[in-house]
Amino acid sequence: MATKIYTITYNWSKKIAVKIGITRIHFPGLHGILLRFSGVNLSLLSRVMSSRLSRGTYNGGLLSTEAGTLARVVADATITLAGFLGESPNYKFLHQATSAPPISYYDYIIIGGGTAGCPLATTLSQKATVLLLERGGSPYGNPNITDLAAFGKALSDLSPSSPSQRFISEEGVINARARVLGGGSCLNAGFYTRADSQYVRAAGWDGRLVNESYGWVEKMVAFEPPILRWQAAVRDGLLEAGVSPYNGFTYDHLLGTKVGGTIFDGDGRRHTAADLLRFANPKGLTVMLHATVHKVLFRIKGKKRPLAHGVVFRDASGNKHRAYLNSGPKNEIIISAGALGSPQLLMLSGIGPSDHLKAHNISVVLDQPLVGQGMSDNPMNAIFVPSPSPVEVSLIQVVGITQFGSYIEAASGEPFVAMPAEKDFGMFSPKIGQLSTLPPKQRTPEALSQAIESMKALDPAVFRGGFILEKILGPISTGHLALKTKSPHDNPTVTFNYFKDPHDLARCVHGLKVIETVIESKAFSPFRYDYLSLPILLNMTASAPVNLLPKHANVSTSLEQFCKDTVMTIWHYHGGCQVGRVVDDDYRVVGVDGLRVVDGSTFIYSPGTNPQATVMMLGR
Ligand SMILES: Cc1cc2nc3c(=O)[nH]c(=O)nc-3n(C[C@H](O)[C@H](O)[C@H](O)COP(=O)(O)OP(=O)(O)OC[C@H]3O[C@@H](n4cnc5c(N)ncnc54)[C@H](O)[C@@H]3O)c2cc1C
Repeated sequence: MATKIYTITYNWSKKIAVKIGITRIHFPGLHGILLRFSGVNLSLLSRVMSSRLSRGTYNGGLLSTEAGTLARVVADATITLAGFLGESPNYKFLHQATSAPPISYYDYIIIGGGTAGCPLATTLSQKATVLLLERGGSPYGNPNITDLAAFGKALSDLSPSSPSQRFISEEGVINARARVLGGGSCLNAGFYTRADSQYVRAAGWDGRLVNESYGWVEKMVAFEPPILRWQAAVRDGLLEAGVSPYNGFTYDHLLGTKVGGTIFDGDGRRHTAADLLRFANPKGLTVMLHATVHKVLFRIKGKKRPLAHGVVFRDASGNKHRAYLNSGPKNEIIISAGALGSPQLLMLSGIGPSDHLKAHNISVVLDQPLVGQGMSDNPMNAIFVPSPSPVEVSLIQVVGITQFGSYIEAASGEPFVAMPAEKDFGMFSPKIGQLSTLPPKQRTPEALSQAIESMKALDPAVFRGGFILEKILGPISTGHLALKTKSPHDNPTVTFNYFKDPHDLARCVHGLKVIETVIESKAFSPFRYDYLSLPILLNMTASAPVNLLPKHANVSTSLEQFCKDTVMTIWHYHGGCQVGRVVDDDYRVVGVDGLRVVDGSTFIYSPGTNPQATVMMLGR
């Protein structure tokens, strides 16, 4: 065995020396290396390694891994140790916008440091100078973002400095959009899964590049989740319900039941798109935080088409700054402000339906009626299942991908997300606006606080259990977005028209039938009370004090009614700057030069069962 001292970097900058003994094994059918570590906390290392190396095993200081190279293993340990210890990376390129000069020049200006914007900035910084402008702050050091058990806390933080900005669709479904470096990947339930190959083909993407880019993202932020009892029962119940075959742990989108990836590591710490900036060229990148872009500037005189050449942004003190593109034929402004932010910013910059822009006193650069059209939000419906036995805290890990376009997922906890003192339904809590006791339009902050207060009087057993939920593909139903004011800080108005298309409703009903079979399956029996029949569970979900929406009397007999009455968001809303309508196949804004949009606003349908993997891939 050769023994050598290697240096492992952790906490992004600190270094430790680790003695690693390497034995190469060459037996017929088994090639690999055995590593023996000393000089490092082994229990920490084992957790790190077991979460990174899906095919490796760790046993008392001995790690074996199939056909990997030592360099790869050490590189993985470096990355994960940094995230595991949860400290801020020492990003030299991160600045508060208050320190930005009044005027600056770059090759690329990216608006929005979210799920797409961060990998995009990292990629472009390798060969050019890039300015990334993000209206929110840093995600590092905020336990509401980093800890799995705190899921929902950021969503219920309604302060102006919250990483989440609540918005309410015109139908009255309460929703959230990100306001933080890393974007939605800092708020989400962490499930990580690729789009299916048909989606990739239909999008006209290069399959090889797509796979390479997914792989790049996965090396840094995706993990195999530990499957405990609740998720295992859902997995086995799905198979009993005929959602087969079982495809094991995979990032791929395959018909049947599978365990997907997660951006939470083995210790429940979140890794976000902001972590991808670690691969940026620090000499090429400047990131400004609390930098809200108010508009894109166009040069019109002497040009065949309007040319985007700069942006106006304001810092946290309200001071105005301008950034312009260096001259160069490839230089561009790229909007990655998300499905609400991107169409909103195009309109604020004069690209949109001209009547609507004029009504807001905005000078029209390009009359483009399709900006803000095609807004969709995949409806989510869930059944709450109280459990006689304790359940683990879990966010989404298992998914059933059905033939008919309904995706079944589950989340659990006791109470749902480990906040016993707070009596909370986590992801479904009225604190984040879901399933409250009041008709949507009456859900004032006061009414929501009353609902939260009334939860405190409930028996703790009510909170033990979990949710089995479904999301439908697509969806086919679409709506639109319009400006409410001229301020980029204010939410635009959004209508999603949930279940307007009967196919969407049929998929929901079909999915609920599968959920019912899962609940009644043998595998799931330890987690249900025999005396709670399905109609009772449906009524409970629709009418329990904490989980009540205005409902019709027939929710337990009409699944159509149940779908409509208990519709929620799974936060996969998209559209507004769709490919083929607002942007071309290369994501260039049609009708102007020097401007692209790259983020979830360009999607026609939501990719895969959950979109974040594809959003990060697209940014890359
Ligand atoms: C609560 C929740 C749970 C979810 N769960 C999952 C899940 O489990 N799995 C999954 O795959 N997906 C999940 N999603 C969806 C996924 O996270 C989003 O689809 C994805 O993050 C969208 O990425 P984006 O780049 O389009 O937008 P974002 O990530 O929202 O990025 C947009 C960025 O632009 C910034 N911005 C906007 N306007 C301006 C401006 N004028 N100036 C400067 N900056 C601006 C915003 O602050 C934000 O950081 C969830 C989302 C949420 C909110």
